[in-house]
Amino acid sequence: MEIARRCIYCDHDAPDSSPAIVMPFVAHRALGYAPVNITHDWGLRDVPTGLCQTRCNTLHCACCGGLFMDLRFGEPEMAALYADYRGPAYTALREHYKPGYVKRNEALNRQTHTAAVEKFLHDKLPEHPRILDWGGDNGRNTPFRCNASCCHIVEISGKETLPGTQAITPDEALGGQYDLVVLSHVLEHLPSPFSLLEEIAPLLDRGAYLYIEVPYEALMCELTRTNEPIWQNKRHWHEHINFFSTAALEALIKRSGLVIHGLEERQDRPESSVLCVLCKSPATNEKRI
Ligand SMILES: [Zn+2]
Repeated sequence: MEIARRCIYCDHDAPDSSPAIVMPFVAHRALGYAPVNITHDWGLRDVPTGLCQTRCNTLHCACCGGLFMDLRFGEPEMAALYADYRGPAYTALREHYKPGYVKRNEALNRQTHTAAVEKFLHDKLPEHPRILDWGGDNGRNTPFRCNASCCHIVEISGKETLPGTQAITPDEALGGQYDLVVLSHVLEHLPSPFSLLEEIAPLLDRGAYLYIEVPYEALMCELTRTNEPIWQNKRHWHEHINFFSTAALEALIKRSGLVIHGLEERQDRPESSVLCVLCKSPATNEKRI
């Protein structure tokens, strides 16, 4: 695990910092740190008693406007957090810290925005595209799943995928040839979104479009409308350890050497928006001209 000293989006140095906490569910599952009550029995003469949570900082990049948690989990912490994602142990612990989680999650699971994604991408792809959904869960939200000539899914939680799709490993995926690679609701969870874009670069160099979708969190929408430092209001970090601004997402993509072919904000529910980007490796543009 590392502590970020530079912007994870645009690589600018010395981001602004403000104190925050890791939410207890994430601290418990990723780090094994449940909240603890410091009592007089501890015998800590110079430390006040009371409930102790896991500290972190909110970092804000003045250059691209992106926001993120300074603690950057390593592989063991990510494996602990996402093993059997939304399986029984995960769900029970989350329900313990956040009563009502199961019901809310069931309602969210019933929603799908695949039609909107397909509309955004439809004129860029062949009739029966080859699709790779990286982090695609069981494939229920994979665009073009029903008319794809192949639909591969990389999913670290080890879930079974839906009929018509095939679960493959990252190594298998990196050797493949696709028309579209999907990273939908993945980058907001990752310690280094830049590293994943670097890892999948060979797929894009072979001509695939890359579709990225991330939440456009309410605080980030508000930040674009005000000059006040309201990013300091971000006092807690849950599984979404990266909050994207439009400029931060653009900066990340350009830093990865990719060219943006379309960017839009989509409002899926009254309280929830997403940022959608379609991009491509410049090498493949040159070849096709
Ligand atoms: Zn930045």
